[in-house]
Amino acid sequence: MFENLTQRMSRVVKTMRGQARLTESNTQEMLREVRLALLEADVALPVVRDFVARVKEKALGVEVADSLNPGQALVGVVHQELTNLMGADLGDDASELSLAAQPPAIILMAGLQGAGKTTTTGKLAKWLSEGGHVQHGRKTGKKKVLVVSADVYRPAAIEQLKTVAAQVGVEFLPSDPSQKPADIARNALDHAKRHHFDVLIVDTAGRLGIDEEMMREIRALYDLLNPIETLFVVDAMQGQDAVNVAKAFADALPLTGVVLTKLDGDARGGAALSVRHVTGKPLKFVGVSEKLDGLEPFHPERMAQRVLG
Ligand code: GDP
Repeated sequence: MFENLTQRMSRVVKTMRGQARLTESNTQEMLREVRLALLEADVALPVVRDFVARVKEKALGVEVADSLNPGQALVGVVHQELTNLMGADLGDDASELSLAAQPPAIILMAGLQGAGKTTTTGKLAKWLSEGGHVQHGRKTGKKKVLVVSADVYRPAAIEQLKTVAAQVGVEFLPSDPSQKPADIARNALDHAKRHHFDVLIVDTAGRLGIDEEMMREIRALYDLLNPIETLFVVDAMQGQDAVNVAKAFADALPLTGVVLTKLDGDARGGAALSVRHVTGKPLKFVGVSEKLDGLEPFHPERMAQRVLG
């Protein structure tokens, strides 16, 4: 078992008694432990470096009250910075889903194949149709949701969404591999408008790796749909690899948020830090099960706690 961040820090706290301020030399050991713990949690190296540098900058010169062990003061700084990095610094509403558009509010799902886009589309549709959506801390009521798949490369993907939609009881608009993704999107938009849907969720094709053609295609869908939310869906199990994928999607698309899936399988949560750092966008949801009720709104403090261990 890896020693988690909390364990590592408490060990160092004990050695730091009786010093009135945090200095370059007395923070060194603790920062080293923070660095190692984050690397073990599978946070990408540049993100770890940045984080440690930020903690150091905040910590140096912090006056330590007589009663406090300077180590504890440093742990406080680490805790605060971690929560900030997870998104607390973006404000309370940042992780809420925005539907503030002339209906239909359009949500575009982006991510690699296998990340959990289709499952998350179903989960989101369920959550919205059951009245889970919250704005400024208030529930906004049940939504009429339409889902459509623009994945014309894998006929099974369209079928999968159809099955998921039936399971959660939302309307599914059939599409066909012979259609162009842009035509599917146009058709869905038209259908959603004519039938007064509140929300249209567009599931898109994923590839096993990042490729330019896929990025061009999803960018074209973005331009056509003008979605209020463009969610990047990423598998928490990807750990450090999530960084490159996140960067590619963030460069190609004006993302509005991130959904971190399969958190039930990843005890460490390092991908959350990396993706948040690279995209600069708020995490909005986490996937915590294969089941269609396995979606939870994201909470920065909880995720920070998870990384701390
Ligand atoms: P897509 O290719 O991005 O559309 O990915 P899928 O939605 O097909 O998901 C790929 C696999 O991951 C499926 O077997 C899903 O059941 C599984 N999956 C998706 N989200 C979660 C999650 O939050 N937890 C777990 N354990 N499995 C998930």
